[in-house]
Amino acid sequence: MLDQVFSFNNFITVADIALVAFLLYWFMLMFKGTRAERMLWGIGVIIIVYFVSQRAELLTLHWILSNFLGSIAIFLIVVFQQDIRKALIHMGKPFSTRDVAASRESLEEITRAAASMSKTRTGGIIVIERGIELSDFLDVGVEIDAKLSKELILSIFNTSSPMHDGAVVVRAGKIFKAGCILPLTEKELTKSMGTRHRAAIGLSEETDAAIIVVSEETGEITLVVEDALYVDLGPDRLLNDLKKLFTGKGYRKKSIIPWREGN
Ligand code: ATP
Ligand code: MG
Repeated sequence: MLDQVFSFNNFITVADIALVAFLLYWFMLMFKGTRAERMLWGIGVIIIVYFVSQRAELLTLHWILSNFLGSIAIFLIVVFQQDIRKALIHMGKPFSTRDVAASRESLEEITRAAASMSKTRTGGIIVIERGIELSDFLDVGVEIDAKLSKELILSIFNTSSPMHDGAVVVRAGKIFKAGCILPLTEKELTKSMGTRHRAAIGLSEETDAAIIVVSEETGEITLVVEDALYVDLGPDRLLNDLKKLFTGKGYRKKSIIPWREGN
């Protein structure tokens, strides 16, 4: 009896079920919090009804559902192309071989610029590229490719500069582009977050970039990384977080997320 329970075939069956369960879990985790999540649950219910209708020989229902499920792949790809793109980008992230190191000086220079902008209530977004290439998001924008300095950042965001609208992008310790238009998030946010914050969050949903936002209205400095927000940072905290982020040591994952309640 015990021999049978522990037979090789049983072991294979258990491993098979465990593997499928793990893959399903991982799949759901990938879509957690996205628009796709609710839809996936709906499709799960339809699949169950499909099998029940087959067993109970409800022929018409079974016929309708089997036709629907036959074309569902195309339907899903069209409806969720955005979410699928995001999920695939995140899946590929651990395999990125790009060097994400940022020099201490460049992080200090960026922090000094942010601190000064915060004091003068100058709005701006500074994006620091990490593992994922941002080129896809930078079609609009002026190429600069210059040594990074606080002064240059301040002159870009000076309201009389033609490049002050949009984001500055830092690549490999240099100012790569300015005036970049980032994708806006579709999340519901608190009223204090306008398009500048929406743009920062939008980019962080699709890439791993570190995005610093200085608010024109409040002078507040916010760091946005991988869909998480660290609000109201002073310069010391910002520099500390950036250093941790770029050396990978002790970076805190938990953030203060001022999404509207219920989101
Ligand atoms: P603030 O706290 O500074 O007022 P906010 O989140 O309330 O910021 P807005 O007041 O709407 O946002 O800020 C408008 C500015 O945000 C624009 O002038 C522009 O520079 C910048 N901005 C708006 N949309 C984008 C975008 N898609 N990508 C980059 N920057 C953007
Ligand atoms: Mg505003």
